[in-house]
Amino acid sequence: MERFPLSFYYRIADQLVDQAKVYRDEQRIHDLYTTLSRYCRLAEVLPQHKSFMAYSLNEKFHHKKIYQDFIQELQMLNQVVGNDSLPQKNNSLSSITERKVAHCCTVGTKSMRVYEEKTGLASVFTFDTTTAKDWNFNLHKVKSSPSPSLSCIYSMPFTGRVSHLTADDSKHGDSNSSLNGSSESRVLQDVHISARLMEGFLELARDNTDKDLETCGILGAFLKKGTFYVTTLIVPNQESTSSSCQALNEEEIYAVQNEHSLFPIGWIHTHPSQTCFMSSIDLHTHYSYQVMLPEAFAIVMAPTDTSRSYGIFRLTEPGGLSVLKDCQERGFHSHPEPPDGSPLYEHCSNVYINQNLRFEIFDLR
Ligand SMILES: [Zn+2]
Ligand SMILES: [Zn+2]
Repeated sequence: MERFPLSFYYRIADQLVDQAKVYRDEQRIHDLYTTLSRYCRLAEVLPQHKSFMAYSLNEKFHHKKIYQDFIQELQMLNQVVGNDSLPQKNNSLSSITERKVAHCCTVGTKSMRVYEEKTGLASVFTFDTTTAKDWNFNLHKVKSSPSPSLSCIYSMPFTGRVSHLTADDSKHGDSNSSLNGSSESRVLQDVHISARLMEGFLELARDNTDKDLETCGILGAFLKKGTFYVTTLIVPNQESTSSSCQALNEEEIYAVQNEHSLFPIGWIHTHPSQTCFMSSIDLHTHYSYQVMLPEAFAIVMAPTDTSRSYGIFRLTEPGGLSVLKDCQERGFHSHPEPPDGSPLYEHCSNVYINQNLRFEIFDLR
């Protein structure tokens, strides 16, 4: 239940605030509604975390205010779009967001659960919402600016320069049939990656690869019009062996992500002498990414694998996610099959190579 430190859940909250801002600016009402609902559901269970009482007051007040605002915004969205159906996109939000609400109202978890049921959200959070403590709505905020704005410098045309990556693209020989099949139960947004990302990373990893040591990097993306564009590779300080790699000084990584308003869309690592697959440790590492952002993916680069030089993977949902959620083991170990018969992980079907995407590398080593 206390799977991650509370700071991790606050990072998810921050990321949802950023995502909501993009959707609000782009007037994507359905996506905004879904994101606000996810945020509120998370905010309601944060007080159950064992570290909540001792956690930074500033951070708690900051998010308490955002929670209140989001509850109001959800109510207004609900009024405007009616009870049964939500428009998919492009409905004017200006009349909604510009309305000022005079009174700060308290909405309990009960009504939020109605929103959740309506939007059909499948939460991956492990808290039990039925015992969530109410927030104290009498406390006043100390900060009001919810998030840095997403600065967008993307301006390139896509026409004819985007290619769909399929599971077959990286295969040179026999296929690995254990990963076939898709379990995507939620609609994932598309992800575009730069054509230079993977070869650039291999180049950076070469020294380690020659010494049979893994290398890892973190991928940052910006979000525009319902698509994540992966523009940034952060190579952190790290410790590695021939079969594992651990990023150090995570705060440095967050600093780069925050400074450039990037979403933590995934990670990339090498298997210098192993085949292209996700080890049990890789699956646990990836679990935290996918909990943070459903679109998160893991790229495995295996230059010595003659049948598959790279793979772009994610945990199946709900199958793989539920197995990893319940697994307390560390180190290399085996996992049971998901109860629904799906594989633990699968190839991403929503990732595209975009020849026009700019690409930056932050090498912090
Ligand atoms: Zn690995
Ligand atoms: Zn495990």
